[in-house]
Amino acid sequence: MSVAVVLFTSDLRVHDQPVLRAGLRAADEVVPLFVLDPGVRKAGFDAPNRSAFLADCLAGLDGALRERGGRLVVRAGDVVEQVCRVVTESGAREVHVAAGVSGYALRREEALRTALEPLRCALLVHDAVITALPPGQVTPAGRDHFAVFTPYFRKWEAAGTRETLAAPRTVRVPEIAGRPLPPRDAVTGVSPGLVLGGERQGRALLRGWLADAVTAYEERHDDLPGDATSRLSPYLHFGCLSAAELVHRARSKGGPGADAFVRQLAWRDFHHQVLAARPAASWADYRTRGDHWRADKDEISAWQEGRTGYPVVDAAMRQLLHEGWMHNRGRLLVASFLTKTLYVDWRIGARHFLGLLVDGDLANNQLNWQWAAGTGTDTRPNRILNPLTQAKRFDPRGDYVRRWVPELAELAGAAVHQPWKLPAPDRARLGYPEPIVDLADGRSRFEQARGLG
Ligand code: FAD
Repeated sequence: MSVAVVLFTSDLRVHDQPVLRAGLRAADEVVPLFVLDPGVRKAGFDAPNRSAFLADCLAGLDGALRERGGRLVVRAGDVVEQVCRVVTESGAREVHVAAGVSGYALRREEALRTALEPLRCALLVHDAVITALPPGQVTPAGRDHFAVFTPYFRKWEAAGTRETLAAPRTVRVPEIAGRPLPPRDAVTGVSPGLVLGGERQGRALLRGWLADAVTAYEERHDDLPGDATSRLSPYLHFGCLSAAELVHRARSKGGPGADAFVRQLAWRDFHHQVLAARPAASWADYRTRGDHWRADKDEISAWQEGRTGYPVVDAAMRQLLHEGWMHNRGRLLVASFLTKTLYVDWRIGARHFLGLLVDGDLANNQLNWQWAAGTGTDTRPNRILNPLTQAKRFDPRGDYVRRWVPELAELAGAAVHQPWKLPAPDRARLGYPEPIVDLADGRSRFEQARGLG
């Protein structure tokens, strides 16, 4: 009996799963392996919301493999050591894994290759598992990655996406020891409104999304109270859903909504190809602007806790605390507020997001933060989003703010966006903070710091 190891990482699914299919093709039996790796914890990627969601994903994956006659083998410890042990115990000749883009994933790949060689076991790394198009498949002439989205998107669209793969019917797993699945309820500090993880949940959400809501995506994706985006990001982050499958299915649906949705999936690939080419951009400026950031502790806490006195900013930050997720328009405006209006280092914001976001992802989070801070790929690096203008445009009746900021729930209509205009006794009664910064002062401080005008 030949055996192959299928090492699951950010690809926790059985549908359109090139790594699993390759393992099944290569051998009579496979060991579907997930390693609870302390290295992930050390790198700070094990925030409670993601740990809880991961527990759901692993339980779901185990269930899907059991339906096919197999099961998930869970181990804990250094990933390279554990893979080598499983290889020795099972006599596997091949280990299959998805290509990653972070420095951590690249180092893991290198270390695995080196450690497996003396065991006469090959490492096979599969592309286009985590993204729709592998990083580096499309490049501008003479460069290793695109630094601007629009030309990337043109080439990305023209390149086409690999064919999708059906879920396997049968998975045969040899006798091999594993440990129990990590229980979700053992994770503490989880946001009360966190969604359930797993491939089944992701696929049900996707079905509903493509059947109906995607049609209105182009007009409604910025509607803060309407909440009319797919909310598929955590399922994409953990690989419960395949980006390639989403592209195919949205394209076959067609129409302006589906096209706009596919464009967002291309943004995801775009950031991944930037990080794959520049792993240091996870914490270092992609394009430095010579910033001397501020780090006022009280302002940072007010921002983190949703007490800035700008209702739309506070609403978005409280959504993050409650759900472990935030609407994209919210992410854009709170990131602009922190990095431009308060002129605080983007890394402080990115770290806070990574501590809470269930979809918290090194490529998407760090590079979107850099985009917002003007140290990344934005072609207009000094633009500032005014929270009041944004609020009036994307939450015109104030429903989003009333949903998340109960102190202001009694204020009607757009008045909810400017509580500072109320008479002082009313403001005192509401118990909502005064603005921590004057927007004009924030703007001129930023413009001065960046040497503008
Ligand atoms: P939809 O609007 O339905 O979009 C579909 C999918 O496209 C998303 O699930 C996501 O995978 C992808 N996508 C959409 N917008 C972007 C984008 N700007 N960049 C990259 N991919 C995108 N996204 C993450 O997945 N993880 C993060 O950690 C993350 N951090 C962010 C931090 C900041 C400061 C900003 C401005 C954006 C961040 N985003 C991040 C991107 C985006 O906000 C989320 O992907 C999106 O809000 C998820 O909601 P959705 O699934 O309903 O998106």
